[in-house]
Amino acid sequence: MQLYQNQEIKIYNTLSGQKEVFKPLTEGYVGMYVCGPTVYSNVHLGNVRTFMSFDMIFRYLKHLGFKVRYVRNITDAGHLEDDADVGEDKITKKARLEQIEPMEVVQRYTVDFHNVLKTFNFLPPSIEPTATGHIIEQIELIKTIIDNGFAYEVNGSVYFDVHKFNETNNYGILSKRKLEDLIHNTRALDGQSDKKNPQDFALWKRAEPQHIMRWPSPWSDGFPGWHLECTAMSTKYLGDNFDIHGGGMDLKFPHHECEIAQSEAAKGQSPVNYWMHANMLQLNGQRMSKSTGNTVNPDELLSGNNTFFSKAYAPSVIRFFNAQSSYRSILDLTDDGLLASEKGFVRLMDAVNLLDKIEASNTSTFNVSEWKQKCYDAMNDDFNSPILIAHLFDAGKFINQIKDGNATISSDDLEILKTTMNDFVFDVLGLVNSSSGDTTSTSTGTDKLSGAVELLIQLRKEARDNKDFALSDKIRDELAEIGIQLKDGKDGTTFSTN
Ligand code: AMP
Ligand code: ZN
Repeated sequence: MQLYQNQEIKIYNTLSGQKEVFKPLTEGYVGMYVCGPTVYSNVHLGNVRTFMSFDMIFRYLKHLGFKVRYVRNITDAGHLEDDADVGEDKITKKARLEQIEPMEVVQRYTVDFHNVLKTFNFLPPSIEPTATGHIIEQIELIKTIIDNGFAYEVNGSVYFDVHKFNETNNYGILSKRKLEDLIHNTRALDGQSDKKNPQDFALWKRAEPQHIMRWPSPWSDGFPGWHLECTAMSTKYLGDNFDIHGGGMDLKFPHHECEIAQSEAAKGQSPVNYWMHANMLQLNGQRMSKSTGNTVNPDELLSGNNTFFSKAYAPSVIRFFNAQSSYRSILDLTDDGLLASEKGFVRLMDAVNLLDKIEASNTSTFNVSEWKQKCYDAMNDDFNSPILIAHLFDAGKFINQIKDGNATISSDDLEILKTTMNDFVFDVLGLVNSSSGDTTSTSTGTDKLSGAVELLIQLRKEARDNKDFALSDKIRDELAEIGIQLKDGKDGTTFSTN
């Protein structure tokens, strides 16, 4: 018997605009696809927030006993600077500016992404496919869409015919936009474009002579459109119809709208049963965004090396801060908010650490089983982590009362309490308690230490990448002198203290 058999999960589905009971296509199995990063720059904390929210969802589904196939791609080709299919490919542009190979750009920022995920204690997805590894699948998909009459070729580029599609299908079904309004609101074509209509989007772009990232195709040497990779990779690994598709709110239109159109045009069916969108992280009341420069990167927050915040924060404090809001709410990253989260995180860890020290009595003065179900109810309600955290604090209060002799707990209930706290705090929320057994507030002190050492590990890696071995050795040796040993393994560098 798996936990999910006793729990009813509701998910807010962007497609219907409602919370719906979650019924996977195959009982016990969940297929989930989340759009991954475009690896042309370091990820910022806004990106981290979206991935962290889906990491928590992945963790909860796994905790319930579902066999989850979680696919999160790496966009390493085809993402143009502009949604109107003009401008350069972001990766090619970065390569040109830095005078390196596009694949060096891809490698550098994929490594950065993975380091960040490790720092924040993410679980790896089941499959992490790349766009460049799936060019053949994308070409095949384009052929089918052309054969079905929903795309056309002009001068070596292929465009999706949105107007034709909308005659028989509904372009705008996800974002609730109407084609007439889109027509009204888009600039007329300036004569430079090959498109029949400005709403059409590229499936394949012919590469200009200087464009390095290019592949042969029946239409031209070129590269695929950004929306296409997610359709190709999600359906390849999860099937033509799968359970959950996620991403940030900003991807709802045009990216996800185009994914639906491509799938319906190629396969005659809607690809996804539950569309989930995480809301935006803001800084100074404005969306955190690479293009406006309104960003803070993880290492800046973890090191305290930034102009926004009074101090450095540990990775678990950021996870806790994120979980204190629903993934569907806009979240403002502020110093006050982070300070409050840090206090809350310490309080929670102190309560968890007390669990091993309290003694059982004959009876309980707190209904632990009811409390446990409330924790599940919170997460079952569209992964409502702030409500879950409120329940965890209730338990924390109870634990402190037991310690002070003002409450009692039976041994059966103590077991349930321990297991449930551990399940939710560590397995589901993904927090890390680096000072178990310590009931003072040093948990953040230790967490800060790991944050700082992770940062040094990253700097050392950068030094090695730049062949600055003198610096990389200095970092390793000086850490060893203060009792911190670095260990290089095939999955990266870890550290231990003595
Ligand atoms: P990108 O690399 O730009 O494709 O973004 C990767 C992911 O981060 C996407 O799911 C975006 O929706 C998400 N994202 C970008 N900016 C923010 C933000 N300010 N807050 C939350 N998520 C974001
Ligand atoms: Zn995508």
